[in-house]
Amino acid sequence: MKRFTILCVLLLLAAGLGNTQERKKDALAQLAIRAGKVLDVRTGKYLADQVIWVEGDRIKAIGSAADVQKQIPAGAKTIDLSSATVLPGLIDCHTHLTMNPKTLGPSRLRISYPRAALMGAHNARVTLEAGFTTVRNVGASGYADIALREAIKDGDVVGPRMLASGPPLSITGGHGDENYLAPQFNYSDDGVADGVPAVMEKVRQNIKYGADVIKFMATGGVLSEGDNPAVAQYSLEEMKAIVDTAHSLGRKVAAHAHGAPGIKLAVIAGVDSIEHGSYIDDEAIRLMKEHGTYLVPTVFLEDWLVGNLEVLNLTPSMKEKAKTVLPIAKQNLSHAFQSGVKVAFGTDSAVYPHGLNAGEFATMVKMGLPPLAAIQAATVNAADLIGWSDRVGTLEPSKFADIVAVNGDPLADPHVMEHVRFVMKGGEVVKNE
Ligand SMILES: [Zn+2]
Repeated sequence: MKRFTILCVLLLLAAGLGNTQERKKDALAQLAIRAGKVLDVRTGKYLADQVIWVEGDRIKAIGSAADVQKQIPAGAKTIDLSSATVLPGLIDCHTHLTMNPKTLGPSRLRISYPRAALMGAHNARVTLEAGFTTVRNVGASGYADIALREAIKDGDVVGPRMLASGPPLSITGGHGDENYLAPQFNYSDDGVADGVPAVMEKVRQNIKYGADVIKFMATGGVLSEGDNPAVAQYSLEEMKAIVDTAHSLGRKVAAHAHGAPGIKLAVIAGVDSIEHGSYIDDEAIRLMKEHGTYLVPTVFLEDWLVGNLEVLNLTPSMKEKAKTVLPIAKQNLSHAFQSGVKVAFGTDSAVYPHGLNAGEFATMVKMGLPPLAAIQAATVNAADLIGWSDRVGTLEPSKFADIVAVNGDPLADPHVMEHVRFVMKGGEVVKNE
């Protein structure tokens, strides 16, 4: 018995030792990135002839080559980006990695949750390769998004850092319900909850099953059947209950909202971001500025949808809503951009093919957002919205070594962002052309 105990202790010690050695080895991986030009996303200034010292998965130091190069231990690997423009890894605050354009209409009834998660594995890779090293995924049935996030964390799947919401909360018959089925099928989507106690329980349930953020539908939607994007869904009391429950458990809240009444209720209830904001008006803008609420505008999707509306499996009413709402949304959001409301970058990827996320930059700029503000939306602002300013969004010591590079000047031509040549996530090279 005694001998057995000693043996166990020895085995445990050996296992522990193995672990620390492994960790030490990882932590000591040293890398020098020679950057021709680094865009300081806070100021919009280009810094020439920079070196980024990467240790393990973090940035150890960044500065002029003359200062930083001499601090880097001999034998460190070098990556040469001296002819490129280097930026922090990009952040998309509104993705649906477990969905695709082809599954937006009733055809999604044939998609199982495991199939959705596997679609997500493909979409996660193409999103990361497009330069998006962090995404906030706002809406997936069956917790397929949580499964995907865990698979990425465990290294089973290549993809961005993910914050995931699980199923979005929705009223019965709302944008987040399943409205294609006749009554005899008696089915509601898994985020459906009505009334204060039910929405509180649903928020707690989502957090129990792994949600990093809470998403709810404050108005009807465009690509859904039988609901009206202009009207509010949920009462102010229900919205407050969602927000207070989420915030008390340390989770931020994203509200899908098109119509102005729903936007205003959600802002008053205390949400952290308004997603889409199609019918945003001056009063909504004023309220958002007063409350410090972020706008996540998702405007590029219209550019893509216009040309593809007929090839998707959408119902006539969905197509009609898209044609009506999306052009008006661009006018209203353009006005909101001029008004100085805080903007964070989001695309609603899944409404257009994943990997085209960076198309959002040029569309926002065309609508009047200055190019630097568009890049800030996808870096510092997005990091602030998701609560990760301590780890992503800028190239600074102790942050994750999430780094992208492009050719050319994204402040002069936002289309440059659509051709990311180099992607590093947490010190690992994902793409290097
Ligand atoms: Zn969405």
